[in-house]
Amino acid sequence: MPELPEVETVRLGLSRRLPGKVIRSIDIFHGKAFDVPEEARKVLCVGASVVEVRRRGKVLIVDLSTEYSLLIHLKMTGQVVFVGEDRFAAGHPNDSLVSKLPDNSTRVIFKLEDGSHVYFNDQRKFGWIRLVKTSELPEEEFLKRLGPEPINPDISLKDFKNAYLKRPNMKAKAALLSQDIVAGVGNIYADESLWAAKLHPEQKMTSLTDVDFANLHKGLLDVLKLSIERGGSSNHTYVNADGVKGSFSSFAKVFRREGQPCFTCGTEIIKTRSAGRGTHTCPTCQVAP
Ligand SMILES: [Zn+2]
Repeated sequence: MPELPEVETVRLGLSRRLPGKVIRSIDIFHGKAFDVPEEARKVLCVGASVVEVRRRGKVLIVDLSTEYSLLIHLKMTGQVVFVGEDRFAAGHPNDSLVSKLPDNSTRVIFKLEDGSHVYFNDQRKFGWIRLVKTSELPEEEFLKRLGPEPINPDISLKDFKNAYLKRPNMKAKAALLSQDIVAGVGNIYADESLWAAKLHPEQKMTSLTDVDFANLHKGLLDVLKLSIERGGSSNHTYVNADGVKGSFSSFAKVFRREGQPCFTCGTEIIKTRSAGRGTHTCPTCQVAP
């Protein structure tokens, strides 16, 4: 599932290509992917130029000259592919990133005045695009539930700790996955940051010491930034802003490394379940409560 670093990779790629470009038409192949009446799309999107591409948590925000914004959530299998003066593709890693489009995963195409196209592909159809008045974004039902951003700008250690201590009885992994505490962290980065901080996923937030919080804060920020530098994560292949395969899986310390030795102590990494998700830990470094 695309997480914060992958969505940030999409943002970086689009923000180098889209601003100033004008939407000429929109083709929709799956109505639920972009559920906005045709009349509204015609008035608020067609003929509009892109002002800025931003991100909030895992949501992309494309501000238009009509003072409306497109919100794009990639959910499980969404991806964005730009085909124009060059090709830029990011999001869920599969062949659609590099193959001829549209294909059977294409849900929406934005055709731009200069002849370039932006494809929204989504194999499993959980992703969505919404249209919201830019000035009303702070009140938008999805965005308003999100907690603070972990990076860009970096959350301070104090705010980080305070955010998690609002839910003192939550277990560490579940808390990290909660988008309303801190936005954008998913399964991969939760496992990686807990390992970095030597914390067990089932440990309650109240049991964390100041040193634990400092280690978790540093561990999370480090892994998110490293992943963005490397162009996001991937199960198979991943194409980042410059068409290079993302290499996060090659530097993951625990995620999908079950059966392999811990980089710190050599103990075999194990896979268990926590917060309903496959969870990877070192049983020596991350002692169960
Ligand atoms: Zn270990």
